[in-house]
Amino acid sequence: MPTLICPDVLVDGTGAAARRHGCVVIDDGRIAFVGTRQELDAVFPKRHGWEEIDGTGASLIPGLIDGHAHLTIENKDDESYPGTDAPREAIALYTLQAAREAMAAGLTTLADCGSIGDVLLYVRDAIDQGAVVGPRILAAGPSVTTTAGHGHYLGIEELADNADQIKIAIRKLVFRGVDFIKIMATGGASDPPTNRYREQYSEEEMRVAVEDAHRLRKRVVAHVNATQGIVNSVRAGVDALAHCNWLGPEEGSVVYIPEVAQEAGEKGIFVDLNVFATLPRIADRDGEVFGWEGPGQVEHRFDLIRDMERRGCKSYFSSDHMGRNIATFPKALVAACHTLKLDPVEVIFRVTGRAAEGIWLQDEIGTIEAGKAADLVLLNGDVAESIEALCDVRAVMRGGRTVVQDGKWVRL
Ligand SMILES: [Zn+2]
Repeated sequence: MPTLICPDVLVDGTGAAARRHGCVVIDDGRIAFVGTRQELDAVFPKRHGWEEIDGTGASLIPGLIDGHAHLTIENKDDESYPGTDAPREAIALYTLQAAREAMAAGLTTLADCGSIGDVLLYVRDAIDQGAVVGPRILAAGPSVTTTAGHGHYLGIEELADNADQIKIAIRKLVFRGVDFIKIMATGGASDPPTNRYREQYSEEEMRVAVEDAHRLRKRVVAHVNATQGIVNSVRAGVDALAHCNWLGPEEGSVVYIPEVAQEAGEKGIFVDLNVFATLPRIADRDGEVFGWEGPGQVEHRFDLIRDMERRGCKSYFSSDHMGRNIATFPKALVAACHTLKLDPVEVIFRVTGRAAEGIWLQDEIGTIEAGKAADLVLLNGDVAESIEALCDVRAVMRGGRTVVQDGKWVRL
């Protein structure tokens, strides 16, 4: 039997303005209809036996997508984390709990950008096979990185120091069942000796990675802090630039190159913007900005990303949070909405429709449109007026079934 929801506010995830008093019909796990009350009555005059979910005082949005999370990795200050060296079984249990807590917070899809061993692949499969209720997971598995490179300690069997080793690593990862490839094109902040101000791979090495991953139909996300890593990744044609800090070769400088942003735009490259890290002012966090041609001054990294978007790039917001902390992503989105002075509908778009496109799932999820999977979140209040509603979840639906209601699991 179909299910009907008529929320006071409908934000459909396409970026379109909120609709008042729309109606959504769910049938067999998918969205069967979206329209007004009158259209509903015209299309479905008889609704005998239908289930109806009360949408009074609520906003309906697509299930949120976190396009960059790390489920298996330690969240600092989290005493429940068993440790990266713990038996994989212990990490798997923690990972499952982290995934479920994220879903209860409204995150129905998580793209994990680097995890320990094959742990996450088993968690993903257990959810997909119906053994346990959880979010949709896309897993990169262990990242591709160099000896002693960024994240090298995360259970990576095949470290890759040159083009041939990159190919071997990617081929083995794909064979093991990863959904996409994460490659560390520069060093990273969490392990300072790797030097986040410099590239880890040359343009040619990045090109080999992209060609081989694309041959195997896998998306490539490049971790890029340093400008040189952005240059190499853009020239090589990666699918998404994660972080995209544009850091100069020495600490304290930001080096933006409009021509490279232009090339990224022409290639349709996405920016995976870890929103929490972009909230401090760029001058305080990253340093003095060079290469900016305007308009205005660069206040936040988001201003650089906006310029990239004017040149054709698209960006989605992600958390880059770890473990059980991923569930706090909606709070970070609320903070971003205020700090970056964005419309709540735009914030939602960047973690639903836009994010779905960024992770190559736009045909399946991300918007409330007929034919899409019914991954939906019902929020108390008017989220288009007040973004705070994002943290006040009334119900979470996955594949048309309510899994969490008023903070309690109704399907285990
Ligand atoms: Zn990350």
